Amino acid sequence: MPPYVLPRFSIGVGDRFGHQAKAQLHACMEAGRSGVTVIPVWNKSNREHLIIGSEPQSTRIAADAAVQALGWQHPYYCDADHINLSTVDRFLAPCDFFTIDVADAIGKPADPASIERFVKRRADLSGTIRLEGADETFAITADLILATATKFLAAVEQAGQVCRHIETAKGKGSFIPEISMDETDAVQTPAELLIILAAIADEGIPIQTIAPKFTGRFNKGVDYVGDVAQFRREIQLDVAAIAWAVRNFGLPKNLKLSIHSGSDKFSLYPAIHKATKVSGVHLKTAGTTWLEELIGLAESGGEGLALAKEIYAEAYDHRAELCAPYAAVIDISPAQLPQPSAVGRWSSEEYTSALRHDPHSTAYNPSFRQLLHVGFKVAAKMGSRYLERLDANEAVIARNVTQNLFDRHIAPVFLGKPSPVAAPTHAEVR
Ligand SMILES: [Zn+2]
Repeated sequence: MPPYVLPRFSIGVGDRFGHQAKAQLHACMEAGRSGVTVIPVWNKSNREHLIIGSEPQSTRIAADAAVQALGWQHPYYCDADHINLSTVDRFLAPCDFFTIDVADAIGKPADPASIERFVKRRADLSGTIRLEGADETFAITADLILATATKFLAAVEQAGQVCRHIETAKGKGSFIPEISMDETDAVQTPAELLIILAAIADEGIPIQTIAPKFTGRFNKGVDYVGDVAQFRREIQLDVAAIAWAVRNFGLPKNLKLSIHSGSDKFSLYPAIHKATKVSGVHLKTAGTTWLEELIGLAESGGEGLALAKEIYAEAYDHRAELCAPYAAVIDISPAQLPQPSAVGRWSSEEYTSALRHDPHSTAYNPSFRQLLHVGFKVAAKMGSRYLERLDANEAVIARNVTQNLFDRHIAPVFLGKPSPVAAPTHAEVR
């Protein structure tokens, strides 16, 4: 049985159509050659499976095949991403990493008696806490303990229920549990995170990663929108709070932050690297691989380019419906979306430079990119016609997938190489 202890550095990669696992694993191997072991975790949410009409088993098959083909010697995992009690069952067999999403329960009141028990049991958290590695202390008051319990205890209890359900099916200690609280409007401060971790320890959940909601917007496939300096401070304190919680609450020693980036938060990468190079981090990307498939198709010209144009035209026609499930995490300006007829005349170069996330390029179009990011349903509907084009252009697509993952994500976050964007452009800070 493989050890279910997540190593220090890991990257969550999405592979919507199950065709790029090898290209993604190549990026992790490149990291190894650069001196750092980065563990791949293939994540695909229930929402993605439903949109595409795929089964969680398909992610496992693709991951196993890639690992076998390339002779990867380190651990790797399959993540049941953003599951809850009603959706977890079909992920139980193929997955060994579970992102337990309790965002829905945040703000729902827990049983008053259990709030009271928690507040009593953790009364000793009151006072001034000095976090090692952070230059600040923070004060925890009885009021904050009560307020945090009122807001988050029901969510933690729900996570406990899901975790025990998975344990019953798979056995204790035979999977990696993550708790995600990112898909909500309620930002968690580092002090709240610390209190939440106390509740998680009380609930007996052996979490190895936790995904809080940070301030600012984490839109899909584009850069961060928010105050980078504040994020830098927040992540340092979160890391310190986690270390403190591990020492004081008996949580697993490898517990680390999971950052659900939505991909491409280039302006945050230097801060993430600095804050987590010792403690470790799980960086969850999503959708960036699917966009590289489109870039590869467009770059191939001919039928590939034609298909990429057709996908845009369809996505444009169905934009309201495609965007609806992602409304909270996209920001498309309709005026910036080119007419499909204009895109129909584009060269390979025009298509790829509008889509590729190069913040320094004047041709880069974030609205075009975000619409295509959520437009994978169009390709899913094409079925084998899309998959056959992927196979026909495998080499050029794989090169784009590997380079994107390594150069734009792994190198800045895990190796501390300069991020594709050194400082956010004016338009990205609001
Ligand atoms: Zn997430």
